[in-house]
Amino acid sequence: MKLDFRHGRVEMCHGSGGRAMAQLIDELFAKLLTNDYLAQGDDAAVLPALPGRLVISTDSHVVSPLFFPGGDIGSLAVHGTVNDVAVMGARPLYLAASFILEEGFPLAELKRIVESMARAAAAANVLIVTGDTKVVEKGKGDGVFITTTGFGVARDGVTLSGNRARPGDKILLSGRIGEHGMAILSQREGLTFDAPIISDSAALGGLIEAMLDSRADLRALRDPTRGGLATTLNELARQSAVGMMLDESAIPVAPAVAAACEFLGLDPCYIANEGKLVALCGPQDADKLLDVMRQHPQGQNAAIIGEVIEDSHAFVQMTTCMGGRRILDWLSGEQLPRIC
Ligand code: MG
Repeated sequence: MKLDFRHGRVEMCHGSGGRAMAQLIDELFAKLLTNDYLAQGDDAAVLPALPGRLVISTDSHVVSPLFFPGGDIGSLAVHGTVNDVAVMGARPLYLAASFILEEGFPLAELKRIVESMARAAAAANVLIVTGDTKVVEKGKGDGVFITTTGFGVARDGVTLSGNRARPGDKILLSGRIGEHGMAILSQREGLTFDAPIISDSAALGGLIEAMLDSRADLRALRDPTRGGLATTLNELARQSAVGMMLDESAIPVAPAVAAACEFLGLDPCYIANEGKLVALCGPQDADKLLDVMRQHPQGQNAAIIGEVIEDSHAFVQMTTCMGGRRILDWLSGEQLPRIC
């Protein structure tokens, strides 16, 4: 008998290693995520040796709710990991995916999630080559958790690292901030705004390829996910032992996000993004890089938002729209839990 994807639910036996698990893998995972490596069906995927420097990143996804405007945990589990590989100047090639399912979770929803993963992986040009499924008892999980590990190869001659920022470098941002976090929050809290806020969850590989092709003097790329732009810039400042001076008026924020943040008393600089990047670039190439970014669909709203300065305290500061100056500190505490 085939799995019932309309009314069926995840059962403990789907993680037990027996016939039921094999059926779930065959009729769902292997079928939707199909590729030659996954089809090998062995305990591990055997891949050809990759030339050059291997880049690996891993990320667990526990987002709640599982479905949100602009994506779901499946697409997010692909984007989150391929972006962490791509910001190292690497082309993501393969993913491993590990699922923790809660007993009783509807198979129809699981199918939607895996279909979404398959679409996201195809769009990002990566193959999901191996995976694992475990089931925990009802009440011991929260539907689905997905861990993905990404493998890529760094482009020859490209070395990007958060420790390479130097005073004078320009800080570029690829687009409007805060959309992922506010999409999740509004869905979770049942808030409706005049304009719906859609998550920016997306793979950044294409934009990054164009940026690398420009041969601009890039020092570092990073995706401002949890903790938002402010936290990412603080990480970079600490790693390089430099300060940063931002211009608040230059930071792109969609009007709907700005309004929602104001209403909720949140600062968009601390809200998570899943399809944006920060670039640190030598000052001589910043304008050229900005042009390249703006020509890419994912960089249309790119902006130079500030510059790296000398500062032994590694403070990130901002000139505010009011003309004052304030420190943009690390995110303290947990502003929005389970955002990714
Ligand atoms: Mg990251």
